[in-house]
Amino acid sequence: MQINVELVTIGNELLSGNTTDTNSAWLSQQLNLIGLQVSRITSVPDIKKDILSILAESENRADIIIMTGGLGPTSDDITKPALCEFFNTKLVFRAEIFTHIESLLFKKQLKINEYNKMQAEVPESALVLHNDLGTAAGLWFEKNNKFFISLPGVPFEMKGLFINKVAPKFQELFSLQAVYSKTIITHGSFEAQLAETLKDFEDEMPENMMLAYLPSPGIIRLRLVTTGDDLEELKAEVKGQINKLQELIPEYIIGFNEDTLEEIIGKILMDRGQSLSVAESCTGGKIASLITGVAGSSKYFKGGIIAYSNEIKTDQLAIEKSLLENFGAVSKQVVENMAINSRLLFNTDYSISVSGIAGPSGGTKEKPVGTTWIAVSSKSATNSHEFRFGDNRERNITRASITALNLLRKLLTEPG
Ligand code: AMP
Ligand code: MG
Repeated sequence: MQINVELVTIGNELLSGNTTDTNSAWLSQQLNLIGLQVSRITSVPDIKKDILSILAESENRADIIIMTGGLGPTSDDITKPALCEFFNTKLVFRAEIFTHIESLLFKKQLKINEYNKMQAEVPESALVLHNDLGTAAGLWFEKNNKFFISLPGVPFEMKGLFINKVAPKFQELFSLQAVYSKTIITHGSFEAQLAETLKDFEDEMPENMMLAYLPSPGIIRLRLVTTGDDLEELKAEVKGQINKLQELIPEYIIGFNEDTLEEIIGKILMDRGQSLSVAESCTGGKIASLITGVAGSSKYFKGGIIAYSNEIKTDQLAIEKSLLENFGAVSKQVVENMAINSRLLFNTDYSISVSGIAGPSGGTKEKPVGTTWIAVSSKSATNSHEFRFGDNRERNITRASITALNLLRKLLTEPG
């Protein structure tokens, strides 16, 4: 049975471009994971007639219509009145929602007001999906064997409701096929190159399996998705394919699923009781920020210097002026000394340093925008590498940071 799903994201901010519609991308992925495909995504403003017309349209095409947004406490949130009109029902006050709102506000030491009270009013014919994480309840309607679900716009509330309330109901209602997926995280290659290397692999893949390339700056995720009757069989199938990938592209695989480089590194350092510091120029603290984004990083990360100007490089990191004059700030000599000196200054086992030209200006013929030197240093070795990233400042900073973390990962996992 083909089940058609349409998504409708509601909110003026989505159409003005002030907010990117991340809800529909996330929902599409999650629906895929339980074997449902989205056939259309529409965004509409907080205008009642627009909401009514897309509902009427989608109803003709789809079996499931999932809406997000417009359930907030303010007057621009118009989804509930629109739903009342569409389903020919009225708003009723639900005491259990009100009690939940009261307790949420009490925890935040906020006083309840008229707007909050309005959030306890929901369309009478809706089944209420209790929202543990916020004040706007989710709503579930059924009409002529079609399902209409309205979720809050706030992404983490929407996600919580979908995972805990909506997805289990779908699985029950549609006895969906088992789906299993695993993501392989790669670094150091680019999409076209990987696609070429993996051509035979893809041709030989089982028919019920799909490989998706999901690129982001510095990282390409390879997502294997497979569907079938038996979940255990699917897991074994995916494991077999991952073994193949580990033989084909071992140098690029850095982790799986939600792994991040900063967590992988953190775990190794934590296990070994070793420490890390950084000296960053063009990344401006991004590496330190990634590292300290990991809970427990204080166990191994001591600190760093953002040596953005030459003055700080010489005065705080003790880089010799002659090195800067002879080789320039973006050079093997300077970046290696930055790594060694920060390791000594902070008295750590390892250090990472970066110096590059993030752009858009500042490039020369010899060192165009994107030229970046990265060094990693341990008590026994200091390695550095030159990279030519692109001409986009933001992506250069991200790629430099990820590449630096990966060089440290390699140094940490090198045999011997
Ligand atoms: P609302 O439920 O309409 O009050 O939305 C609350 C907040 O959630 C908005 O201010 C947005 O920041 C965010 N939001 C709403 N819709 C989306 C969406 N489709 N994708 C990402 N964020 C959203
Ligand atoms: Mg809104």
